[in-house]
Amino acid sequence: MIIEDRPALAPLTTLRLGGRALAAVRLERLEELSRLPETLKRIGGSPHVLGGGSNLLIEDGELPIVVVRPLIGTGDKDEPQPLGRESEHCGTEGNLLFRVDAGMRVPHLLSWCVRHSLAGLEGLVGVPGRVGGAIAMNAGAYGCSVAPLLRSLTVFTPERGVHILRPDGWKSAYRRFCLKEDCSWFMILSAVLALHVSTPPALKSVFRENFRRKKANQPLREHTAGCVFKNPEGDSAGRLLDAAGMKGVRRGAFFFSPVHANFLVHDVRSGILGTSADALALIAEARQRVKERFGVTLDLEVRVWPCLS
Ligand SMILES: Cc1cc2nc3c(=O)[nH]c(=O)nc-3n(C[C@H](O)[C@H](O)[C@H](O)COP(=O)(O)OP(=O)(O)OC[C@H]3O[C@@H](n4cnc5c(N)ncnc54)[C@H](O)[C@@H]3O)c2cc1C
Repeated sequence: MIIEDRPALAPLTTLRLGGRALAAVRLERLEELSRLPETLKRIGGSPHVLGGGSNLLIEDGELPIVVVRPLIGTGDKDEPQPLGRESEHCGTEGNLLFRVDAGMRVPHLLSWCVRHSLAGLEGLVGVPGRVGGAIAMNAGAYGCSVAPLLRSLTVFTPERGVHILRPDGWKSAYRRFCLKEDCSWFMILSAVLALHVSTPPALKSVFRENFRRKKANQPLREHTAGCVFKNPEGDSAGRLLDAAGMKGVRRGAFFFSPVHANFLVHDVRSGILGTSADALALIAEARQRVKERFGVTLDLEVRVWPCLS
């Protein structure tokens, strides 16, 4: 277990924003999980599980949190582990099952899917996080999301330690995921995903088309945390924000992208220090404008840290 004192959090996020945590705890071996609660108690502060940091807006200053990172594995040589056909497990024909570590990068998993002609995760094209974060956010796009592919999860909770959950052990909805059991916090360690065999040309063309749409409509080269707000039922947050005049509106080093009004960009080249106060004030202004103009209250998709309950 590697413990870093007072790590700077901004470099760990795609938005490049955030102060310092009390500590960051990175696990190197599964057995270390038994010592984790004791270690966290000694450090103090509230545990926050970090994946790829691509959906986070972290506040400035000295934060009363401890960042916990799941096992990262040995890097991009790691591969999902085949577990056989789904019919052998629960009677559904056609799908192949794979165990995937939570620390695997989503783009690495997608390249592996393309190489092996395995379909199901096409909605994650261009999503920069890690597998654990994609599950915790039920990430997706273009009509696909992660939750329907999940068959089991290995999770750690301080209350129950490491245990395996079947689909009746969690709840998921659009960009929502939570465990049904009572726990103070949880960390996903690995997941069993059901993927189906496709043909290489068909799969490549879906990936290519999704990536083309994403590149055309989203500011992928800028520092962002993806969509700030969830889409309200039957509408698009980007459309509402655009109609409310938020495209290009700036405060300090932050502005809403002229390419996609639901992306808050941190303009790190502006020479202005980006502060979480400016980012949050701009988000509040956007929410207010949409509320006044359309009577719709937008819910945040991006997670604001610290989340202290
Ligand atoms: C350019 C860009 C494009 C994006 N496009 C999309 C998109 O098309 N669709 C979409 O859904 N999202 C999109 N996102 C948002 C983001 O990439 C996804 O939500 C992603 O799945 C977050 O994963 P992460 O590993 O970065 O999680 P983090 O940002 O590190 O964490 C997000 C949340 O998940 C929790 N978490 C992370 N890992 C674990 C774990 N192992 N166990 C338990 N909880 C955990 C964290 O505590 C936090 O609450 C985009 C972001 C960017 C920057």
